Amino acid sequence: MFAEVIVDIAHTAVDRRFTYRIPEGLPVSVGHHVLVPFGQGNHLKEGFVAALKDSADYPEIKDIAKIIEHYPVLLPDQIALAEWMKDAYHCLFVDALRLMIPAQMRGMRIKEKKVRTVTLAEGVDPEAASESLKNAPAQKRVFELVTRIGAEASVPDINAFYPGSTPAINALIKKGFLSEQSETVFRRPGKLRIHTPAYTLTDAQERAADAIRSAAARGEGDVLLLYGVTGSGKTEVYLRAIEDCLALGKQAIVLVPEISLTPQTVGRFTDRFGDRIAVLHSRLSAGERFDEWRRIRLGIADIVIGARSAVFAPTERLGLIIIDEEHESSYQSESQPRYLAGEIAARRVKASGGALVLGSATPSLLSYSRALSGKYMLLELKDRVAGRPLPTVEIVNMRDELLMGNNSIFSDKLAERLSECLALGQQAMLFINRRGYATFVSCRSCGYVLKCDNCDISMTYHKTESRTRCHYCGAVKPLPKECPNCKKPFIKQFGIGTEQVEEAVRRLFPAVKTLRMDTDTMREKGSYEKLLSAFHRKEAQVLIGTQMIAKGHDFPNVTLVGVVAADTTLNLPDYRAPERTFQLLTQVAGRAGRDSLPGRVVLQTYEPNHPIIRFAKEQDYPGFYHYEIMERRKLLYPPFSLFLRIVFADRDERTAEHACLDYAKALETELRAVLGEEGKQDLLLLVAAEAPIARISGYTRYQILIKLLRTKRLKDAVKTVSTFHDAHRGVCAETQLEINPQEMF
Ligand code: ADP
Ligand code: ZN
Repeated sequence: MFAEVIVDIAHTAVDRRFTYRIPEGLPVSVGHHVLVPFGQGNHLKEGFVAALKDSADYPEIKDIAKIIEHYPVLLPDQIALAEWMKDAYHCLFVDALRLMIPAQMRGMRIKEKKVRTVTLAEGVDPEAASESLKNAPAQKRVFELVTRIGAEASVPDINAFYPGSTPAINALIKKGFLSEQSETVFRRPGKLRIHTPAYTLTDAQERAADAIRSAAARGEGDVLLLYGVTGSGKTEVYLRAIEDCLALGKQAIVLVPEISLTPQTVGRFTDRFGDRIAVLHSRLSAGERFDEWRRIRLGIADIVIGARSAVFAPTERLGLIIIDEEHESSYQSESQPRYLAGEIAARRVKASGGALVLGSATPSLLSYSRALSGKYMLLELKDRVAGRPLPTVEIVNMRDELLMGNNSIFSDKLAERLSECLALGQQAMLFINRRGYATFVSCRSCGYVLKCDNCDISMTYHKTESRTRCHYCGAVKPLPKECPNCKKPFIKQFGIGTEQVEEAVRRLFPAVKTLRMDTDTMREKGSYEKLLSAFHRKEAQVLIGTQMIAKGHDFPNVTLVGVVAADTTLNLPDYRAPERTFQLLTQVAGRAGRDSLPGRVVLQTYEPNHPIIRFAKEQDYPGFYHYEIMERRKLLYPPFSLFLRIVFADRDERTAEHACLDYAKALETELRAVLGEEGKQDLLLLVAAEAPIARISGYTRYQILIKLLRTKRLKDAVKTVSTFHDAHRGVCAETQLEINPQEMF
């Protein structure tokens, strides 16, 4: 027998299957992690068995040297998936495979954890033995403890009971009273349980859960879009759907955005399903990740809850994948392979005979359009549970405030609502999409703007640090006392950030405790959880933060949400700005009035008549969808087209510029050839120019932006760009191809 092995070396030259002989008696099967002699020196390299075959097409075949783990680490469906990813995301086969096992397994950097256990040795009479130990009290009490337990007792457990017992245990083994074994244990992350009652589902929840159950039972890889307004009880539907899936004897994967993978979320699932859950996220230790992964692989865990990469979890009996907050951009990987979790999930459930559920209060335009066209099944939860109303949204025109002479951060309305809320002992959340104190520092006399020395970006003033900081590269600078340009003392800070909002609240309500949540206050491990639970315990009345506070949280006592500046995201130079603004505003508004107390939202804006602001006021997703999809169609933006971007970065300005411009011409010629006469109109845009942020960390950046109409020729066009890019790496220090780039600057 022979095996096709993918060698674990990330290089295009060796990114293919190599044939090895399976030595007599070595139980190799598909998916095994193996060691093979490789190259001229026959150095042992790790690899993965992708397939078995009866014959080899050439005679001089080397033998597989060794099996690393006794079980196959990759499932057949994962190997097929990696094969597909290779083409779909233009990555190496091995890059895709590496996503499917814990990183520390490669290079054999992690081991199973074993503990010593002891039991009563066979044939020992407990009473007689105990009697004989009366002059050795330490041994006697350990022996009696093990007898009482009546099963395997682990040495750490015994030591927890009677500290310092190891010598006594060893003595008892030597005397033949106890026999020792070793047992594999799984290192598990915290097992917090958050008790939530098992509600009787509302009719709408029941209908949604039923539809999911039938789809999972049919097992044809159906995709269901669960569109439910904020607070409509989507989580409860997920829990029921998972129960149904387990009842079918299948496994489920739940993906949530990394930021909402808090002990609170996990605790809610753990309360329902106990040890059947495995958790995968970036804050696990290497040992925990390895062990959680093995619990899934070995079928001990039936439910996986995790961030984006958990979509690759090794579930052999996969029946259901749920993607919560499916519109979140964090479901697209930012590094190679740049996969979309939703796309991977759809393929996996199709292969395994399951169903995929996408849940959101603000579905992505693409998902909702697929639901309307019947490609996905649409499930709706139109109301909040228990007849609770959606919060009322009031819009304040900040221009009017200025005209009335109010140039503070808070409009009269927001100040008034805040004071009412606080007087009633309720809690408020204030949202501002900028961290720091002031977003830029400028001279009122000459217009000079303080910029980073390495980046083409203005410096943000951080009052708590009394200095300015670049949000791209982290560089810091003192706040100048006079203008570095005209030397006049008119340097001033502009633009509002979270720090300034917090200061304003404290000035207005000196007795009120506040908390601030942004990447500056969340640097330490565990700080996110600490802050959320402090707010839950009502240790503070006002929570101020960036989009981190907008997502998923369920604080029953929050009755007021203030959006300090609704326009900051609306005017970004990106076709997705309206969609992102609507999502953000709806999500943040949805934090108010989730329990029995009704909620209010005050939305401050300079553009009260902007359609997006109006739809956000009504929390009217379908209205927003129909408006925005028309805009996209008019301008042929995605989903009607696809953007590709190639960034050229180099320390030398000329090199980056030349690389980009030369490349653009050649690429355009090639693209036109591939598209042919019939596809003449497909290339909507191909511009080579300085990137919108022309310098980052000392690198000058140029970019080619390509926009292609979505037609049957799209696939070939993308392939052309990608092949071209691969062939021209090295034209400057860094080149990067992004398909559907998440940021346009
Ligand atoms: P969503 O994820 O849709 O925003 P959640 O699942 O967090 O909403 O539910 C909102 C609140 O309603 C939660 O506090 C939840 O415990 C509660 N809830 C959910 N379903 C029910 C139900 N059937 N009856 C009563 N309360 C419910
Ligand atoms: Zn910088």
